[in-house]
Amino acid sequence: MAEEKFDAIIVGGGVAGTIASYLLAREGLEVLLVERGNFAGSKNVSGGRIYSHSLEKIFPNFGQEAPVERKITREKISLMTEESNVTLDFYSDALGKQGSDSYSVLRSVLDQWLAQKAEEAGVQIISGIRVDDLIVRDGKVCGVIAGEDELEANVTILADGVNSLLAQKIGFRGELKPDQVAVGAKEIIELPTEVINDRFNCRNGEGTAWLFAGTPSGGRVGGGFLYTNKSSLSFGIVCTLGDLIKANKSVPQMLEDFKQHPAIEPLLKGGKLIEYSGHLVPEGGLKMVPKLVGDGVLVIGDAAGFCINIGYAVRGMDLAVTSAECAAKAVLAAKEKQDYSESALKVYRTNLDNSYLMQDLDLYKKFPHFLEETPRIFAGYPRMAADMLADMFVVNGQPAKPLMKNMFKHVQRIGIANVMKDGWKGVRAL
Ligand SMILES: Cc1cc2nc3c(=O)[nH]c(=O)nc-3n(C[C@H](O)[C@H](O)[C@H](O)COP(=O)(O)OP(=O)(O)OC[C@H]3O[C@@H](n4cnc5c(N)ncnc54)[C@H](O)[C@@H]3O)c2cc1C
Repeated sequence: MAEEKFDAIIVGGGVAGTIASYLLAREGLEVLLVERGNFAGSKNVSGGRIYSHSLEKIFPNFGQEAPVERKITREKISLMTEESNVTLDFYSDALGKQGSDSYSVLRSVLDQWLAQKAEEAGVQIISGIRVDDLIVRDGKVCGVIAGEDELEANVTILADGVNSLLAQKIGFRGELKPDQVAVGAKEIIELPTEVINDRFNCRNGEGTAWLFAGTPSGGRVGGGFLYTNKSSLSFGIVCTLGDLIKANKSVPQMLEDFKQHPAIEPLLKGGKLIEYSGHLVPEGGLKMVPKLVGDGVLVIGDAAGFCINIGYAVRGMDLAVTSAECAAKAVLAAKEKQDYSESALKVYRTNLDNSYLMQDLDLYKKFPHFLEETPRIFAGYPRMAADMLADMFVVNGQPAKPLMKNMFKHVQRIGIANVMKDGWKGVRAL
């Protein structure tokens, strides 16, 4: 193997790496994928919902063929305080329509399926080996160093996830900053299919995506999530690292408290914990995107910071797929010209700029900062919503007060000017 030179070496067998390697091998390139976990997906974490538009471009029957859990047809968003939960519940067929469909997935299952597709297309996969460094000659990346082995390639694609030490080693990015990442903790809780259907009001094969702001992350920037799988729930929290430092409890404790919340506990009752994981999430948006292209090297997926969290939608996997596709196209064009220089591979950046990926990152570029500077979203507004609804729904024999007066009282606690300012800034950030 030391003598063999590959067309491309891909580091990391997550969604980005498996797709990039599949697309290149499908066109006849000699491709090696190196994954440090025992198998693709063994170390990977997602809340659990993939927007399938980008995968359906590559596998047109993705929704039917891939080992997905449930098609998401119900969206819920909650503002939670210690003792209350205000929820917006949206069910619509439109959510499940081909092209705008999304699915709950388990990464250990999905990533293995993608790796199998890659292997069938001819990708050589080595798992259980970590890439320690890159071979760099005269400023050009010429392959990877994994343990004793030096493996050479015309192009190396870094798909090694959010904390890409390799991109850092070649100076494409600095160390991650606390405000660029969130810490995620997740449990998979097993429950019978019928119990999930009943508790979440789901038809067979259909599922719910549910996001929470407020107490799950201790009133800090972050939130909770719950996705229904076939016979399990993906349940967890994320909290921005920069804000976690100020929190008065740890992430595991936040998760434990979230599970005990009176609106949540009955939904999990009788469930069996079958998996626990923790992972970082890139949350810095456009500002954390590193240098993406060099001589003989490209950066894709989370390693490139391609993730969008706008409170009501979390997207990393569809961006990982699209970046893999843009990179694969650039490598195929470079192969055609036999030129793997930075200037030849730069078409990757052009492909990204022409796709929704960079346009969406650009659209939402102010949002991470908006969250940081508006702590009321996580502490003040859940309380305001709960108090308003309590005043509306509680009937206790005391003389009723005019509705507007009641509502106004709660808005005043935050301040009308603040509410208007936050609303205006939020709308502009989206
Ligand atoms: C708690 C949480 C909730 C999320 N929720 C969602 C969601 O609901 N929907 C969504 O779309 N996205 C979600 N995301 C984001 C999504 O998981 C990521 O955007 C996605 O996994 C990125 O894929 P990737 O292939 O770039 O990176 P990863 O999936 O992280 O894969 C990187 C791979 O590289 C391997 N690797 C790393 N270093 C090396 C090395 N040196 N040598 C060899 N292999 C290496 C790792 O083992 C891993 O397999 C969530 C993330 C978290 C943490």
